[in-house]
Amino acid sequence: MLELRSIASGSSGNCICIGTDEHHILVDAGISGKKIENGLNGMELKTAEMDGVLVTHEHLDHIKGLGVIARRYGIPIFATEGTIRAISQTKSVGEIDPALFRIIEPNNTFQIGNMEIYPIPISHDAAQPVAYRVSHNGKKVAVVTDLGTYNDTIISELQNLDALLLEANHDINMLQVGKYPYPLKQRILGDRGHLSNERSGQLLGQLLHDKFGTVMLGHLSKENNLEELAYETVRLEVTLGDNPYKAEDFPIIVAKRDGLSQRICV
Ligand SMILES: [Zn+2]
Ligand SMILES: [Zn+2]
Repeated sequence: MLELRSIASGSSGNCICIGTDEHHILVDAGISGKKIENGLNGMELKTAEMDGVLVTHEHLDHIKGLGVIARRYGIPIFATEGTIRAISQTKSVGEIDPALFRIIEPNNTFQIGNMEIYPIPISHDAAQPVAYRVSHNGKKVAVVTDLGTYNDTIISELQNLDALLLEANHDINMLQVGKYPYPLKQRILGDRGHLSNERSGQLLGQLLHDKFGTVMLGHLSKENNLEELAYETVRLEVTLGDNPYKAEDFPIIVAKRDGLSQRICV
């Protein structure tokens, strides 16, 4: 059994729990330590029971609570060298004991408890960002957010997943007519920004297979997206896209911005 559950997902904070019967990890800690603990309590877990935190990159919506939980519980932090350096330079997370950091290499599998973790480099405006694929007992899930674009390597590394949390960040029209300043719009739309709903649906279309389980759409922008719009756009892209599947062939759910989302068990 491999479980994936979102504690928070969105432009204002990200924290995902992945676990087996014996071991649990967090992917990112971008909400307060208190919210992380509350979320885990809702799953009958505690922050102190986490075997590690995998950090995707140093943006504050991914590390806001990292300092607090590292200091309070001494949980090991797994991140690339570039991300660790950038976290150390982020004053607002406070001091973190350097001994807690575990340097990971992109494209190199490592083990936490009975889970195998594979970091996948992604294109985003951070020091050395990665997405994570986690496997246990032949089951595979992945958390893929904060990427401006994707390539064939990413597509091939995300084949045969049982479940996926995938970014559907913005609706391009909402972003374009919205109130964000022009340079920020350009940043989000750029190759090192975020996946639009359309691109998210197009990527998903390339990852489907007969045994694909559930996709959870996450990291929705608060200003430039709506749950319903992300859901419908991704569905449409899958159904109209060049793949043998229709949106109704498998569950598509949208992660809650704040609070526990539906449990995905594979
Ligand atoms: Zn980011
Ligand atoms: Zn983010």
